[in-house]
Amino acid sequence: MKLESDGIIVSMRPFGERDVVAHIFTEKFGVLSGMLRGAVVAKNKPMVGQMGAVAWGARLDSQLGVFHFEAQKNLGLVAMMDANKLKYLNAMFSLIETLLPEREAYPNLYNATLKTLADLNMDSYLQWELDLLRELGYALDFSHCSNCGAKDNLIYLSPRTGRAVCGDCGAPYVGKLFDLPIDLNTTLRFVESVCRGLDVSVPEYRIFLQSK
Ligand SMILES: [Zn+2]
Repeated sequence: MKLESDGIIVSMRPFGERDVVAHIFTEKFGVLSGMLRGAVVAKNKPMVGQMGAVAWGARLDSQLGVFHFEAQKNLGLVAMMDANKLKYLNAMFSLIETLLPEREAYPNLYNATLKTLADLNMDSYLQWELDLLRELGYALDFSHCSNCGAKDNLIYLSPRTGRAVCGDCGAPYVGKLFDLPIDLNTTLRFVESVCRGLDVSVPEYRIFLQSK
């Protein structure tokens, strides 16, 4: 089996003295994992955040695959000189690695990831995380009150449905509802739900990312 696509390296871990095991988020096939042979000693070392042409092959379906990676540009470079941007990049990449099933395509999220990497800040990150949650079955909806349909006075969000609730309808449930507008602390609660469902821990990079 051989798969070819563009992709972004989202994680690399040393494997022996010369090789690394990498996760690459590809446009056509979602997250792929495999070996980058000789990555530790290569002249042009592959790096997390690099985007490029990916070829992935495995002899058997269950086997850890082997990558060939041709770097085109380093999308993570801008974050390497800015600790604030790096926080968001690390959170994005760790969520992609932890939450997305392997070999399942998420073309919309791939494009959203490229766009977000080009302009990393709290707002773009929050928007990206809403996109991620939508792909994982938590489509948060702030357009109207899920109870009465009102489009104004939307000050709450239901933790159960992820939908907005107006001030009147929410009044009896204050304390059980999240506040709007949404922030990174609110989306973290939904990320926690996803992680519970998958029986994985919330990535540390995401836990430490808090709204000011
Ligand atoms: Zn209402």
